[in-house]
Amino acid sequence: MEDTHKHKGLRKQLIELLKQKGIKDTRVLEIMGSVPRHLFMDSGLMHLAYEDNAYPIGAEQTISQPYTVAYQTELLQLKPSDKVLEIGTGSGYQTAVLLGISPLVYTVERQQILFKKTQRLFQKLGLRPKKHLFGDGYLGYQNAAPYDRIIVTAAAPSLPKALLKQLKTGGKLIIPVGEKQQFMMRLTKTGENSFDKEKFGRFRFVPLLEDKN
Ligand code: SAH
Repeated sequence: MEDTHKHKGLRKQLIELLKQKGIKDTRVLEIMGSVPRHLFMDSGLMHLAYEDNAYPIGAEQTISQPYTVAYQTELLQLKPSDKVLEIGTGSGYQTAVLLGISPLVYTVERQQILFKKTQRLFQKLGLRPKKHLFGDGYLGYQNAAPYDRIIVTAAAPSLPKALLKQLKTGGKLIIPVGEKQQFMMRLTKTGENSFDKEKFGRFRFVPLLEDKN
């Protein structure tokens, strides 16, 4: 569980690349410059951790590409006092980035193998989300609702109703919507049943799966 000089150097280069690609939020860049992404990857792939790519993490899932993490986190406009729900914990890397901004992070994963693996990693790294849950993110997490922010890190064919409901008025949901490829969407809740919708760039995510196995 080492973070060496070499890792730090590679991370700096990655941050420069993210800037070149258009990421501007200095807090997001700073945090991604400090979170050791290699520790969230399988040992055989660690040497690739500071390439701007997605890689397999088991259970047919991937750790999101750094650019995607930066893009989604920038759109989220998370404040230190915000309560945030993340759907799709996966490797836990995006969770660690969120925890760098706010301690009030709730995160849900539906693959038991990944859930357990990441739970151990969080313990090792001393990362403490408010709750790390095993379950179906389509349903959100009602017990801690409403949320200031919700971030979905898998592709949704349509907008999950429970997530819209569990958002605070004034709150924001970042979600990639679409089947084969997705558009990043930002919804801002303006009233009980009303939303402002913004559509951003095209991405490719693993699907948000409805049934648990
Ligand atoms: N943020 C993660 C992304 C992992 S990929 C990372 O960078 O590592 C998307 C994750 O969403 C996968 O771990 C997948 O198992 C999970 N997922 C898919 N459908 C889900 C659902 N319905 N509820 C919760 N998690 C889900």
